[in-house]
Amino acid sequence: MSTRTLALAALLCAACSSDDAPVATPTRQPSILFVSIDSLRADHVRCYGYPKETSPTLDALAASGVRFQTAVSTTSWTLPSHAAMFTGLYDSAHGVVDNGLALAENHVTLAESLKDAGYQTAGFFGGPYLHPIYGLSQGFDVYESCMTTIPADIDAMELRREVTKAVSPSHADITSPRTLERVTHWAERADARPFFAFVHLWDVHYDYIPPKEYVERFDPDYTGSLDARDYMGNPAIRPDMPARDLEHLLALYDGEIRFTDEHLGKIIEVLRKKAGGDENLLIVVTADHGEEFFEHAQRGHAMTLFEEVVRVPLIVSWPGHVANGRVVDELVRTIDVFPTLAAAAGARAPSYVQGRDLLAALAQPGAIPTEPALLELWMATYDFRALRTETIKVHSSETKGDLGGFRLDKDARELDPLKADFPNIKKALLRLHELAGQSTELRTKIGDPTEAIVQPWLQERLEQLGY
Ligand SMILES: [Zn+2]
Repeated sequence: MSTRTLALAALLCAACSSDDAPVATPTRQPSILFVSIDSLRADHVRCYGYPKETSPTLDALAASGVRFQTAVSTTSWTLPSHAAMFTGLYDSAHGVVDNGLALAENHVTLAESLKDAGYQTAGFFGGPYLHPIYGLSQGFDVYESCMTTIPADIDAMELRREVTKAVSPSHADITSPRTLERVTHWAERADARPFFAFVHLWDVHYDYIPPKEYVERFDPDYTGSLDARDYMGNPAIRPDMPARDLEHLLALYDGEIRFTDEHLGKIIEVLRKKAGGDENLLIVVTADHGEEFFEHAQRGHAMTLFEEVVRVPLIVSWPGHVANGRVVDELVRTIDVFPTLAAAAGARAPSYVQGRDLLAALAQPGAIPTEPALLELWMATYDFRALRTETIKVHSSETKGDLGGFRLDKDARELDPLKADFPNIKKALLRLHELAGQSTELRTKIGDPTEAIVQPWLQERLEQLGY
């Protein structure tokens, strides 16, 4: 562990309240577990205020660590969001904004940074966008698929066909038990060095088909016929669906959250043992994006940048090293995970990363300095950007121009658009375009590094654009 990290741990614990766990000086690099729960919106997590018991494991982590109340992704779908977490860059800087593009080798990823610092690295994933074809396996000694519907040796063209289907067998895949089994298998064979384990949990992603007991736990009285198979093509799931059926749909989503949370609890148990105890394991849990249930007329995700699809949980637990039960209200971003973990591990993140080290920020007196979050969505026909600050959010479209904004302090659900002359809107829109320009420029400086996963796709795309 670096001198800087030791000093940081001391600073963080100096801020702990008197009833916090006793301070233990770390004598070595912590092992790290980084978890991404696909499609988990923050407001369905109990410790974020949800009234139902969806998340005992996450709640316990928050009670033993730091919970960031206002954390946002960079977008509303899986591939660019993970590329952002793995590089510490906004989507327009890492460039992986379409499902025909992959993260190129010249990027420095979180796993590569930790591997360079002496870590053994292992990744486990449950959804198609995490497949090595998309370039996210860089830096992992072991990178295992826990999917059951897509073969590990699928070719790029076939994988792209699979991810562009509205109704795909991968949506119904149940991967948490297999993920637990693969993590356990790996932990039994890994050596004694500190480890970095990345775990992508898929089952919260539609289709929502939790085991029967989880459905009964969250909606025991339902007598209707709705199920959430073939979710995106299911005609019973629509904006004007009966309120009771929508309630049941949310219960199915909650059942998947609880099912996944319980498997996460078992994964943590395995890895704490492997790490040699609680204080040797730094855990970060977040999500790649949220999920919408017709708040703005859509289902699923990857169609808008409203709060329901970009607000995610972010919890850091490292007993003895970060304050127990601390809640941070200031806006933070999933791109902050890379520099945070790199600093805690004594590893190096590239100087150009756009995220920041949250633990160092927490160690400073007062609040975390405010930085806005850039949100982007470029897939298919979507060309949206948004800027989120603590109190305001503005939306823009490349083709339709500026789309206005919302006061999040008064209108957290973005239902009441602000008038065009609202004093802060112009300033926020200017900042949005400035930040987007800087981010795009950074991509050029890094070397415009995205790669097409399939040449026929790229050819077709170029022809569509008139080249
Ligand atoms: Zn996702």
